[in-house]
Amino acid sequence: MVPKDGKWRKTLTPAQYRVLVEKGTEAPFSGKLLHNEARGDYACAACGTKLFASDAKFDSGTGWPSFEAPANRENVELKADSSHGMARTEVACKKCGGHLGHVFDDGPTGTGKRYCINSCALDFKASKPAAKSPQHAQKANRRNKRPFSGN
Ligand SMILES: [Zn+2]
Repeated sequence: MVPKDGKWRKTLTPAQYRVLVEKGTEAPFSGKLLHNEARGDYACAACGTKLFASDAKFDSGTGWPSFEAPANRENVELKADSSHGMARTEVACKKCGGHLGHVFDDGPTGTGKRYCINSCALDFKASKPAAKSPQHAQKANRRNKRPFSGN
């Protein structure tokens, strides 16, 4: 459970506390991870549990970092949330119970899901560049070899 005591008051910033503990929502387009396109993992800002991978991130235009799926479904908890007169599904960190955001069924990708997550509830850990190089090169090769169509 979320400790509503002094511990998180000390370890989290006021903005993080308002989201993770008090289930607030940061202002759209305010989060520093919104336009982060680096490869890596997004972890819970409170307890460090890995929640989302950069591969699942997309730009939804809503102003909050959006993901098509969690990195590990076991690490997130989905709960019905009827606050503010809306029927929504809350996304929380399974390990510490911290509030992350909401998930919607209007995702534009194959999963059909849109995990709308507060930037300040996430802690980004960039992956080492070496891990992405081979795959990147292969993709570029395939593109270059594709024959031109038409004419
Ligand atoms: Zn957590």
